[in-house]
Amino acid sequence: MERCINNMQNNNIGTPFSEGDSNQYESHITSAKIMLVDDEPINTDVLQTYLEGEGYSNFITTSESVQAIDIMRREKPDVILLDLMMPDVSGFDILNMMRSDKSLLHIPVVILTSSDDAETKLKALQLGAMDFLAKPVDASELALRLRNTLAAKAYQHQLINFDQLTGLPKRDTFLESITITSNQLSVNDEKGAALHIYIDNLKNVNTTMGRENGNKMIQIFARRLEASVRSTGSIQNAFDVDTTVSIARTSGDKFTVFMSPIDNPQQAAILARKIASDTSHAIKLDGRTMFTACKIGIAIYPDDGDNVQTLLSNAETAMSHIRDHGGKDSYTFYSGSMNEESARVLAIEAGLQTVIEKNELRVTYQPKVDVKSGKIIGAEALIRWISADLGFVGPDNFISIAERTGQIIPIGSWILNQACKQAAEWRDRYGFDFRMAVNMSIRQIHDSDMCETTLSALRESGLPANCLTLELTENMVMENAESNIELLRQLKKLGIKLSIDDFGTGYSSLSYLQRFPLDELKIDRSFIEEIKSENHRAPIVRAMVSLAHDLGMSVVAEGIESEEQLKHMQMLQCEMYQGYYRSKPVVADAFEEMLRQDYPNSKAA
Ligand code: C2E
Ligand code: MG
Ligand code: MG
Repeated sequence: MERCINNMQNNNIGTPFSEGDSNQYESHITSAKIMLVDDEPINTDVLQTYLEGEGYSNFITTSESVQAIDIMRREKPDVILLDLMMPDVSGFDILNMMRSDKSLLHIPVVILTSSDDAETKLKALQLGAMDFLAKPVDASELALRLRNTLAAKAYQHQLINFDQLTGLPKRDTFLESITITSNQLSVNDEKGAALHIYIDNLKNVNTTMGRENGNKMIQIFARRLEASVRSTGSIQNAFDVDTTVSIARTSGDKFTVFMSPIDNPQQAAILARKIASDTSHAIKLDGRTMFTACKIGIAIYPDDGDNVQTLLSNAETAMSHIRDHGGKDSYTFYSGSMNEESARVLAIEAGLQTVIEKNELRVTYQPKVDVKSGKIIGAEALIRWISADLGFVGPDNFISIAERTGQIIPIGSWILNQACKQAAEWRDRYGFDFRMAVNMSIRQIHDSDMCETTLSALRESGLPANCLTLELTENMVMENAESNIELLRQLKKLGIKLSIDDFGTGYSSLSYLQRFPLDELKIDRSFIEEIKSENHRAPIVRAMVSLAHDLGMSVVAEGIESEEQLKHMQMLQCEMYQGYYRSKPVVADAFEEMLRQDYPNSKAA
């Protein structure tokens, strides 16, 4: 005889409960699915009556021990109360069979036995039983032993399925649950969306501030993420249907959100924007202000993967794509071509490992020109990679990858040494303080050896510190501004100059700008491009120049391509310019040719 009260598909003890909520915890325990196996129906009836009195309501009972295993496989109970002495198939046989079935292995079993024999108990324990109850069963003892067993099971479940740091489901648990959801979607011919979310700055925090701070950052991020998806009320009217959203921490710095059903992919974009904006705020770690920001890749079910594994892997590919392109967007949708793209990224990652030993890097120099005299006063060193396997790879295609993998440290120090040596040579040959600018990535600035690396490049080349300018992009310095101010001040003590690159493309806080020890501001090419005539951007450029001057910085106009643009910058009293109008970045020999023209009276000319 088999009865199933409360027709639930899954066991009930699976969802996590928040710490300290005892009511929630109690209701978790009493909603457990309890299986009673005893050849005497009267015994199961008595047990059930006792337990109903304790608030339990979810029972499966059977007096047919032959069927017990099949019922367990189907019903997945949370706990089994098992009689030992039964005809045909005994309690021992059932324990044995459970041990050899992975899906049943972890279900706790409490043995009901009238025998007091130690050997019987030992044997049952060896077969994996968790506890014993003496027959005839005492009601209060039954309640206590069952409760303890369920509490142990809930704890074990929590450990296996939920991430200890954030309390969110782990990858396998999440996969299981969204597999069920996606099967349902496919029956109903509906769509869903997987959002793969990556915490941008975590690796940095781990390396510079230690794992404990990294863990704090993960916890804060997870809380913000949960709050963000729970408060979708404000965007709910963008969804026609009732959408369910679930979250998991799928690996160290990665989270996954699954939303279903959705009417159209735009709804996933709306959620991605909301998550990005809700999670990107300053946090305090060890008294320092840091930023959490994220990158999100979206894959749509079933269009981008009709099984959960493919879907999640494509969402991750989309995330890697947006992360590696270093742009300002926080999310992107998966597209088929991204797989080729990720193969290329992997090839670049591999190639970067040996780029220095294979001597595949080259430096090109673009003149920095004095606006008034029209003469070259220095150069910006720009890196090029000529790979034996991949051909020419431009910096936009590999710098952000090198930053992520950490290869930027040796690469950055290589170019710094090359550029300093070259500048010292030209300074000597052409008789003026040649100013060499080298681009720096934030990863380098956070490297504890940065000051030493810079010092040794200066020492070995003999270049005076004030001839070296380090360029940092605006986005880079404004992210985690507080901690960057400190690091830049230390660098500044070496006597070098600091420049803020691509100015106007990020979001500068003007009060921060004043606190950074900056010498130079480079107006981004996108502003220069549009000042062909007095148009809407011209007042912005004018304001940038006067802001820089007020803060005591000199101004470089990037990307001057025409005389008209140059004249405009001259009028604004900008000090220097770079751009194709004078020259593209060129190799050292070609650069020297230009120096000879500009300095005909020097000893090298
Ligand atoms: P950036 O530092 O802003 O460099 C200026 C970029 O604009 C260079 O691109 C340069 O070739 C280009 N450019 C200069 N004048 C003009 C112009 O008149 N018109 C146009 N259309 N473009 C112009 P490049 O060399 O491809 O470098 C791209 C970016 O890669 C650089 O932007 C810099 O952020 C990064 N980068 C290059 N070398 C290094 C390096 O050694 N280390 C690091 N961390 N980043 C580097
Ligand atoms: Mg630059
Ligand atoms: Mg620039």
